[in-house]
Amino acid sequence: MKVVGLTGGIGSGKTTVARYFRAEGIPVYNADQRARSLMNKSEVLKAQIVDLLGPQAYQADRLNADWVAHRVFHDPVLLNGLNAIEHPAVAEDFCCWSARQRGTFVVIEAAILFEAGFDAQCDVTITVVAPAEVRIRRVQKRDDLSVAAVRVRMLRQWDDRERMQRSDYVIWNDKSRADLKKSVCEVYEKLVKRLGDE
Ligand code: ATP
Repeated sequence: MKVVGLTGGIGSGKTTVARYFRAEGIPVYNADQRARSLMNKSEVLKAQIVDLLGPQAYQADRLNADWVAHRVFHDPVLLNGLNAIEHPAVAEDFCCWSARQRGTFVVIEAAILFEAGFDAQCDVTITVVAPAEVRIRRVQKRDDLSVAAVRVRMLRQWDDRERMQRSDYVIWNDKSRADLKKSVCEVYEKLVKRLGDE
């Protein structure tokens, strides 16, 4: 089973691209969603996070995500500590999940594919890119966030140049959804050929 890593900055269109892959019957693992779910469900992870950040990290047994994000934002030691708990757990969960899938390849969608080192598990990587103003506009429309709030989230991630340099394929999402779908289909055909032949 081959693994395709799908990444891109906030609002670039990763989830939209992932949806097109799903429509082709490709299993997709959403690392951001799975991470949140693991942090809410795994007693081992919960205990490690409480050890690191204190009991306020959970409220009514649910991750206090805003508090945690705020707590680690200005403290690189805590951020590294949290990442060291979260990322290996996601990597292991992905391994178990992918072992249960069938087909030529699966997709792992992760905003921080490279930052978290998930690319080490990938045979091929794809970055979705769009200009910052377009991404801000889309996220504002989707999440009702201020420009400043979107920019803060952008600053926490690598920039497009770094992601593009490390990727095998780049999908531009600066036009219509129909254009995006066409680009995804082109990459999909290349992947089927490339990964099916290997
Ligand atoms: P995040 O990292 O914030 O989860 P993302 O990279 O997964 O974002 P999407 O959620 O796929 O991005 O897209 C962001 C928003 O922009 C969504 O509301 C989506 O429907 C919309 N969108 C994506 N591509 C286009 C497009 N080509 N034209 C118009 N809207 C788009």
